[in-house]
Amino acid sequence: MRQPDLEDGIEYWNTREASYDGVLGGFGNGTLPRVDALGSRQFIMTWIPELCTVPSAIRPLETPATDPKRRYRALDVGCGVGRTTKDVLLHLVDDVVLVEPVHKFISVAEAESIQWKGIAEKRKSATFVQAPLQQFDPGKDIAESDTLGRMGFIPVSVEHGYDIIWCQWCLGHLNHSELVAFFKLATKSLRDLRKGFIFVKENLCRDMDDGSARVVFDEEDSSLTRSNSAWIDVFTEAGLTVREGKIQQGLPEGLYPVKMYALQAADSSLDL
Ligand code: SAH
Repeated sequence: MRQPDLEDGIEYWNTREASYDGVLGGFGNGTLPRVDALGSRQFIMTWIPELCTVPSAIRPLETPATDPKRRYRALDVGCGVGRTTKDVLLHLVDDVVLVEPVHKFISVAEAESIQWKGIAEKRKSATFVQAPLQQFDPGKDIAESDTLGRMGFIPVSVEHGYDIIWCQWCLGHLNHSELVAFFKLATKSLRDLRKGFIFVKENLCRDMDDGSARVVFDEEDSSLTRSNSAWIDVFTEAGLTVREGKIQQGLPEGLYPVKMYALQAADSSLDL
C-alpha cells in the first residue's frame, strides 16, 4: 500500500487557506469547531479533573484544584492555525507549545495568538515551532533558534515535560514506524507518567470484517486513515495503553467517525 509522503502532504496543506475552514476541510464555519472543542475539553477534564476551573454548583471551591506553584504544560502537534490551543488547551493549561510544518499556518497562529486566553496579560504562553512530526522530538528542550517565537508569559528557567500531548487530525501523515517512534518520544516527554496523557483525536475507517486492522491511503493529501484496530496496533507497539476511547458525537453527517483516545504508558498501570 502507498505510504504518506512528507513533501506531498505539506504541498497539499499549502494549497489550503490558513483558517479554521482551511484546516477543517470546509467544515470551519458550521457547528463542528464548537462541538469538537467542547468534546475535547470534556474528555481532557475527565482524565485530569484538577484542570476544571468551574467550581461545584453546590459548593464553590475554596482552594484552587491545581497547585498554584505549578504551571501546566501542553503540546499541540500538527496544530494548523492553532485551533485546539485557542479553543481547548489555553482554557485548561498555562503554557502550550505548538508544532506545525506549514509555515503559513503557524504564522497565522502566532499572529493571532495575542487574542488568545491569557496571552496579552502574559499569564499564559504559546511557543511556536515549525517542524513536521517526523523531525520533532518533544523531549528535547526547544532552542531559541528552533522557535518562530514565544508569546505571553516568560519563564525564569527552561521548562521540561508536558502534562498533555494533543494530536488531532494530523497523525495520518505519519507511517506506522514514524508514528510508533513519535509516540515513544512523546511518552518520554511527559512530566509524570502516571498523571500525564497523550490524547489522540482522529478519523476512523472501518476495521476489516474479521475485526483486524484496515488502513486506507488518501491520494488527496497523502495521508493514511486508520481503523480502530490499526490505531490499537500502533499504540500497543509504542508501549501505550488506552485508558478510554470515545467517539465524538454531534459532528455533521458525511464525515468519518472521529475517535478520542486517552493514552498512557502501559507499564505505569494505575490499577483502574
Ligand atoms: N490539528 C489542527 C489542524 C488539522 S489539519 C486542528 O485540528 O485544527 C491537519 C494539519 O496537519 C495541517 O495543519 C497540516 O499542515 C499538518 N501536517 C501535515 N503533515 C504533517 C506532519 N508530517 N507532521 C505534523 N503535522 C502535519
